[in-house]
Amino acid sequence: MKILVTGGAGFIGSHLVDKLLELGYDVYVIDNLSSGRLENIKYCLSSRNCFFEKCDLKEPNCLERFNSVNIDLIIHLAANPDVKASYYDPETNYNENIYVSFRVLEFARKKGVKRFFFASSSTVYGDAEKIPTPEDHSIKPISIYGACKAAVEVLTISYSNSYKIKSLILRLANIIGPRSTHGVIYDFIRKLSRTPDTLEILGDGSQRKSYLYISDTVDAIIKLIGYIDDMEYLYDVFNIGNEDWITVNEIADVVIETMRLGNVKKIYRPATLDGRGWIGDVKFMLLDISKIKKRIGWKPSMNSRRAVEETAKYLIEETVKTRSEDS
Ligand code: NAD
Repeated sequence: MKILVTGGAGFIGSHLVDKLLELGYDVYVIDNLSSGRLENIKYCLSSRNCFFEKCDLKEPNCLERFNSVNIDLIIHLAANPDVKASYYDPETNYNENIYVSFRVLEFARKKGVKRFFFASSSTVYGDAEKIPTPEDHSIKPISIYGACKAAVEVLTISYSNSYKIKSLILRLANIIGPRSTHGVIYDFIRKLSRTPDTLEILGDGSQRKSYLYISDTVDAIIKLIGYIDDMEYLYDVFNIGNEDWITVNEIADVVIETMRLGNVKKIYRPATLDGRGWIGDVKFMLLDISKIKKRIGWKPSMNSRRAVEETAKYLIEETVKTRSEDS
């Protein structure tokens, strides 16, 4: 199978590419390295089965570079994943998330690609009335990012129906692990490395969300590749997340403890009266994952706390290593 991964040099993409190569697939990677890094795809760059093109998916002929390849599956991960920034700059989010996805779907249509995965997000639900939130819950995003993901979901469904492209929409919870360059753990480590006695927390710290480790995420996507051909529908939607959740305050404590810091003063910066970290921050997020568990027999191997602990350990070691290399 020949698999094209957009955003394959990013956090999730690069771990997925490593695994796909390990399993013997031919992998085609497109990334403009806006947030991805060459360092992440070292394994790909030295593999005979991996082909990397640095280009921007907004450019009309970016995808055409793989015109001569019969792609069996596109896993579309490229995006601007910054939820907070989407409030200040909706146009960038529109271009990077909606327009880019349109280009990728157009490539699938013109090239006759018959399988398509789209990395959507738990943010499409907004402030869900039901928690854990199942896939058939209403979609009412509260951020521009969530709205762009929801728009691409429906675009994907229309391409699926119109051009008979089998599609899976993956609504991801917070994914964490080595190589992540955004999110709360990364932010706390960066801040505490600069000022070890104080920690600025966006929001009132009571936000509670579900976190999934990267290897569990990759495992779910790999299992879904095996499932798509047997799927009785043309498209389907799966929540991919953990079965429990953890508060921002608890995450702060894990990071402080892992960095072996003593008395750290926490300074809270709520962006809204109800204590959100930024406008568009979903305060409580826990996905119902019973559908994916039942359909493909996948379940997370570690809970949210363990995922946070592992990620903090790894990212702190990374920070120390980078610092000693710089000095
Ligand atoms: P990331 O920023 O590490 O990866 C995105 C990759 O896309 C980067 O390598 C970036 O350079 C590339 N890219 C962006 N715009 C591009 C363009 N115009 N042309 C070519 N390449 C481009 O982010 P990630 O955390 O790995 O997220 C991957 C996907 O999963 C994204 O679609 C994101 O919205 C979605 N997602 C992530 C999470 C999470 O917690 N990490 C949660 C829900 C959904």
